[in-house]
Amino acid sequence: MRAMTVKPIKTRFAPSPTGLLHLGNVRTALFSALLARSRGGQFLLRIEDTDAERSRPEFVQALLRDLRWLGLDWDEGFDAGGDAGPYAQSERGDLFAGYYRQLTEAGMAYPCFCSPAELERGRKRLRAQGKPPRYPGTCAHLSAEEAERRAAEGRQPTLRFRVPLGRTIRFEDGVRGPVSFRTDEIGDFVIRRSDGTPAFFFSNAIDDALMGVTDVVRGEDHIANTPRQLLLLEALGLSAPAYHHLPLVMGDDGAPLSKRNGSASVEELREGGYLPLAVLNHLARLGHRYESDELLDEEGLATGFDPERIGHSAARHDPQQLEHWQAEALRALDEAELLAYLDRFGVLEPVEPARRPALTALLRDNIVRAGDARVWVAAFSADPMPLEDAAREEVRSAGAEFFRAALAALDTAEDFPSLAKAVGQATERKGRKLFMPLRAALSGQTHGPELPRIWDYLGRARVDARLRKAMELAEQP
Ligand code: GLU
Repeated sequence: MRAMTVKPIKTRFAPSPTGLLHLGNVRTALFSALLARSRGGQFLLRIEDTDAERSRPEFVQALLRDLRWLGLDWDEGFDAGGDAGPYAQSERGDLFAGYYRQLTEAGMAYPCFCSPAELERGRKRLRAQGKPPRYPGTCAHLSAEEAERRAAEGRQPTLRFRVPLGRTIRFEDGVRGPVSFRTDEIGDFVIRRSDGTPAFFFSNAIDDALMGVTDVVRGEDHIANTPRQLLLLEALGLSAPAYHHLPLVMGDDGAPLSKRNGSASVEELREGGYLPLAVLNHLARLGHRYESDELLDEEGLATGFDPERIGHSAARHDPQQLEHWQAEALRALDEAELLAYLDRFGVLEPVEPARRPALTALLRDNIVRAGDARVWVAAFSADPMPLEDAAREEVRSAGAEFFRAALAALDTAEDFPSLAKAVGQATERKGRKLFMPLRAALSGQTHGPELPRIWDYLGRARVDARLRKAMELAEQP
């Protein structure tokens, strides 16, 4: 049994609004939310918009919409309020200023006047010597007078954190287990850019502490940042969260997930007709194992979630799996939900409103996404009915005689089974040879819903009209 956690857990999602949410980064949001929900904790949303050039308000709006559409609601944070706001980092400059001061006064941070070109030259030199390209400490020991003189010349310094040498930083990663880094390999790093904005390491670590985040779930690409962040928190006397670094998501070609190998934005998925529950079930299994292979609802996804079930190797996004969960999620909709879903995509527009529920019930087993319904809407409500090539072939090869027999049988048939029986007797056909031409004539397709249900939906008059059309087609030379 797991020991009871005394402190309530708080996780967060901290996106930079520089693009749309896609399968890879929204999985991080989901795992953070699931970790909180699985332990009765809180989930927080923070917007990391310190990069003024790349951050855009429309991306903030898009990510709020995408998270809400997926049901990944947050208890605290941007657009939800809480005691630790503001929750957009661009509004937290004053708070950060106090911490820069604290570090500078303690001698743990210093201004650095090196230009980007100088830094690049330094890195090149180190690489040429086969050494890792760390900051060489050029400005680490400038006198206060020298620093003032340079500042007076109008040069805007960055602020660097002085990394203590000779130490090993260890932490227990929730996914990978024990991790350690030697501080000698880190090099003094920038915590405030020359334009005065905070560097990622800094604002991200401080805000996790100030917002009471207990558990950080994020991509493995951030693991090298963690020792830097632990050093900063230690220097400031702030408490550090537990870190869980998720293995990356790969495309089905084994390369990191990108547009080219199957990543899609949440917006594209929504517009493509995927249901939120399908996306959630797919993502929740990208690198995490559930005991159940069944479609889980939000609650089931949360209760079955356990960070110990997160795999150590890269997860692979298989688009077939997403299709599978979509089919399952669609099957789980009740009639009203399915109707509302199809309506949202406008696919039922050609159908008389009173007929929509019946049509929805008829086609539900034959669609995976809303767009798939179009062909059935056309098959059952368009006049004249479109005929697929294969269906046309079926009708012609059955021949006019077959449909004459069907029309004769229709006079006395009460339902589809009695019609099929009578046609079978009159034509001495059975099985596929009997049913396929009837299917082709009634729906214009060679697959689809069960024939008795098609009969029920169409009604005798339209069955009659369609058999007649088929007969005419078969009669043509
Ligand atoms: N803003 C960072 C990102 O989007 C957050 C990283 C983290 O979760 O700590 O990559």
